[in-house]
Amino acid sequence: MSRKFALIAAAFAFLALPSWTAFGQQPPAREITRVSGDVYRFRNLFHFSVFMVTPAGIIVGDPINPEAAQWLKEELAKRFSRPVKYLIYSHDHDDHISGGQVFADTALVVAHENAKAAILGEKRPTATPQIVFSDRLNIELGGKEVQLIHLGKNHSDNMIVLLFPAERVLFAVDFIAIETLPYQDFPDAYVEDWIESLKRVEALDFDTLVLGHGMSTGRKDHVALFRRYLEELRDQVLRYAREKKSLEEIKALVKMEKYSSWGQYKEFLPLNIEGMFRHVQLHRRANP
Ligand SMILES: [Zn+2]
Repeated sequence: MSRKFALIAAAFAFLALPSWTAFGQQPPAREITRVSGDVYRFRNLFHFSVFMVTPAGIIVGDPINPEAAQWLKEELAKRFSRPVKYLIYSHDHDDHISGGQVFADTALVVAHENAKAAILGEKRPTATPQIVFSDRLNIELGGKEVQLIHLGKNHSDNMIVLLFPAERVLFAVDFIAIETLPYQDFPDAYVEDWIESLKRVEALDFDTLVLGHGMSTGRKDHVALFRRYLEELRDQVLRYAREKKSLEEIKALVKMEKYSSWGQYKEFLPLNIEGMFRHVQLHRRANP
C-alpha cells in the first residue's frame, strides 16, 4: 500500500469510528451511529444491533436486553417520531434477543422457524416470534427492503443474516468475527455447516459488514479470512487426530501463528482447539 493511500485509508477508518475514540475516552454504554443511508448501528456495551428507518416506520434487529431495548425505543421516538413495525431476531441466544417485549406494542416479531422452537423450549425472556420462515423472507416497508436469509447451520441452527440491499450492508451475529478468533470452544455450533454458510455469505452482494460484536465495521473480505481460519484449524486438528495424537499433544502441535495479531488469540486458541477436536472426533471413525 502506498503511503498516500495508507493515509487516506487511515482517515476513512477514523471517520468510520465514533467520535469518542479520537480522544482516548471511554465509550458510552449505549450509542447509535449511522452505517449507511437509512441503516444505523445500535450498541449496548459489547453487543451491537441494527435498525433501518423508513417513512412508514422502523425495522429493528436484535433488542439485546430489556434495558437496552427501552433505551433504543425512547431514542427512536425522540429522533424519528415513528413506530417500530418489525423486530427481527438474528438467532435464539438470550444475550442478543432478550427484551423483545419492549417493542411488541407496535412491532411484528420475526425469526427463523428453529429460533421460535428454541425460544419457546428454552423459555427465553423475550417476545415470541409471530412470523417465521425457513430459507428467506423479504420485508418491505415504506419503499425500503430488508432481506432475511438463513444460510444453514453455523453458530446455531437458526441463524439469519439481515441484508439491506440499497445500503449494501450485511448484519451478521456471532458466526463471523473481524480478525478475531471464534468464541471459546464452539458451543452450540455446527462446524462443517458453518464453513459452508460462510461461503454463502461471501456470495451475497454487500460492501459493509456489521456484526453483533466488535467496535468497527468490516468488509466482505473479512468473511473469507475468518472462513480460512476455521478451515486451517479444522484441517490441522483432523490430521493430528488421525495420527492418534491426544488433545494435549494437538494443542502443542497446532500452528496458527499467522493469526497471532487477531483478537482473543491467546484466550481462545486453546478453547478453539478443544472444540475442534471434539467436533472432528464426533465426525470420524478411526480404525479399531
Ligand atoms: Zn449466539
